[in-house]
Amino acid sequence: MLPSRADVVIIGGGVNGLSTAYHLAKKGLTDVIVLEKEKFIAAGSTGLSAGGIRQQFSTEVNIRMAMYSVKKFERFKEEIGEDISFRQVGYLFLLSTEEEVELFRRSYQLQRSLGLEVEWLEPSEVKKRWPYIKVDDILAATYCPTDGYADPASVANGYAKQARSLGVKIFTETEVTGIKTEDGEVKGVETTQGYVESPIVVNTAGPYAHLIGQMVGVDIPARPYRRQIFITDSFPEIPPDWPMTIDFHYNWYIRKEGEGLLMGMSDLEEPSSFNMNVDWSFMEKVVEHGIERIPILEKARVMRGWAGLYSITPDSQPVIGPIPGVKGFYCAVGFSGHGFMLSPATGLILSEIITEGESKTFDITEFRFERFAEGLAEGERHVI
Ligand SMILES: Cc1cc2nc3c(=O)[nH]c(=O)nc-3n(C[C@H](O)[C@H](O)[C@H](O)COP(=O)(O)OP(=O)(O)OC[C@H]3O[C@@H](n4cnc5c(N)ncnc54)[C@H](O)[C@@H]3O)c2cc1C
Repeated sequence: MLPSRADVVIIGGGVNGLSTAYHLAKKGLTDVIVLEKEKFIAAGSTGLSAGGIRQQFSTEVNIRMAMYSVKKFERFKEEIGEDISFRQVGYLFLLSTEEEVELFRRSYQLQRSLGLEVEWLEPSEVKKRWPYIKVDDILAATYCPTDGYADPASVANGYAKQARSLGVKIFTETEVTGIKTEDGEVKGVETTQGYVESPIVVNTAGPYAHLIGQMVGVDIPARPYRRQIFITDSFPEIPPDWPMTIDFHYNWYIRKEGEGLLMGMSDLEEPSSFNMNVDWSFMEKVVEHGIERIPILEKARVMRGWAGLYSITPDSQPVIGPIPGVKGFYCAVGFSGHGFMLSPATGLILSEIITEGESKTFDITEFRFERFAEGLAEGERHVI
């Protein structure tokens, strides 16, 4: 049964809410409850994600958070006790315009300066290592061998189990319908299962983040956008160690998924919505592009597909931290398509902010909510 009071209420049982719960409990703040509206945890974007984990970002804070997170994913079994099937096959970014080459050259230098072992590749080298890729129009590529992919639901489950063992309580089928505030301070949450009094409420509601913001009168400029994924039948022609390959110009990506392949592409023309239906005519475009880039895909057969939601902000950076004017209200939202891979760092950051007032591990100035009113910087440019 839902308690009448908790020290912290976390809204959203996705990977970020659960990572935050775990990190808070590890710091000794154990009277924490996680509220999830669906029947099970990781039912939102987390369970629908491609599971990609990369460190190749354009901003320093994202590179640092991703490098930290990769270390945590590598040791997840030892530290958290869950096998997350982390396959470090690398991420290969294919670049086909001068502008992309310039952007990635800058990012490559920044990544190297931070100690990331990323490689700059000429098209001939790409062809040599991955002969199936058509490189005629490719100008350059970058490859980081410690990137890869893992199972997001297992990561979420691992954090949930550890959090529970430390005293955290997780309630599914419990939707937050309102947040009570008084004199600019959070007092508690209204839910479909009753009221819970709490001085701290954390918004990790993924694509629903702005709706939670509205409950305290704040406009969080993160909005949901449909993204689709398609899975092929067994395709042994492409070997298991094939990297997550990103055709950056076309927002198209591919990786192995079991014996088959997983392909996705972002349709930047599609407006914001909560639509999660699969559009099979879009699948044809994804496959068509795939055949252009990797001609042997002509033999591949798509077996299934699904759609989930990205939560996108105007600068493709998340909002992490307190929201000014609403004491006790914290967010970790708007991850713009890279929220799974950063989740170990995100949970740590929020737990530091809540228990110590600030993050000691990362400089997260770029993630402050105030930036939307102050004027935005360049933001993250490696967005897929
Ligand atoms: C197709 C696709 C591919 C992706 N690929 C990648 C990738 O390769 N790598 C990567 O890092 N990221 C990827 N992402 C993004 C990634 O999935 C998200 O950034 C990440 O899962 C966000 O986790 P979260 O915990 O913040 O949100 P979510 O997993 O969405 O969790 C939020 C939860 O809050 C719950 N909730 C919402 N409102 C309420 C309420 N009022 N009351 C109670 N509960 C509520 C929801 O039901 C949901 O379960 C992808 C996303 C999609 C859709």
